[in-house]
Amino acid sequence: MQTTSKMLSIIAYYLSEYDMKAVFALGYSNRSEAMKSISIVAGRDNNYLKLRRDEFDALPESSSSRNGWKNRPPSKEVVEMGAYLRTISFDDLTEIVKSLIANFDESSADTESVIHSVKTDEMSEEEMEQIINLSDPNATIEVVTGTTTRRVCNTSIIHKLKKLYKGQCQICGRKPIDGLDEDICEAHHIEHFSETQNNNANNIIIVCPNHHRLLHKLNPIFSREELCFKHRDKNILILLDLHLKF
Ligand SMILES: [Zn+2]
Ligand SMILES: [Zn+2]
Repeated sequence: MQTTSKMLSIIAYYLSEYDMKAVFALGYSNRSEAMKSISIVAGRDNNYLKLRRDEFDALPESSSSRNGWKNRPPSKEVVEMGAYLRTISFDDLTEIVKSLIANFDESSADTESVIHSVKTDEMSEEEMEQIINLSDPNATIEVVTGTTTRRVCNTSIIHKLKKLYKGQCQICGRKPIDGLDEDICEAHHIEHFSETQNNNANNIIIVCPNHHRLLHKLNPIFSREELCFKHRDKNILILLDLHLKF
């Protein structure tokens, strides 16, 4: 599986800004091991992440002491992403990055503990997502499909993505309750979870309750290239994206 470039940008920023502190927090003993291992698990060349990290070293406010690409101007995307990610704490970002890395390897979505047993064929997509959205960060859901196949789905990626968007809806870019420190955004599976059990980060979008309801009402087609949902001749654009587009 090849991971989206945006998700690797988040990791690249983290490694640029926090360097060895980040390397150790992720459980690696040195930089090159971290760069290489993460690149491989993300389905890229060994050197990929190192090059992406260098792009973030070029940010003027970067605390990196490596020379990196300091003499090159950073791209607009790197500037915007850096400005956004700088507002997230080291601890929160560590959790997000760990979760993204774990999610690259699909098999790591399977965990031991199971708290719910859900018969998917008796449950609508919305009901299923309600359970997934409400579960505590470490909860897992065991899904029993039409036959006897069992699958355990880890909900932690959803909670990390919600943290990443800090209560903002990816479609309208707003916090549903502005000014209040409450995150009531929800996770929506682009390919229906009830059909595919695809709980990878790049199948999840974080949306406000209104837009979530709209997506289920219209069931629009998602275009990853144009980063929008399409319904008849209307496009529902995604304004805020840090992890979907490659
Ligand atoms: Zn919205
Ligand atoms: Zn949904």
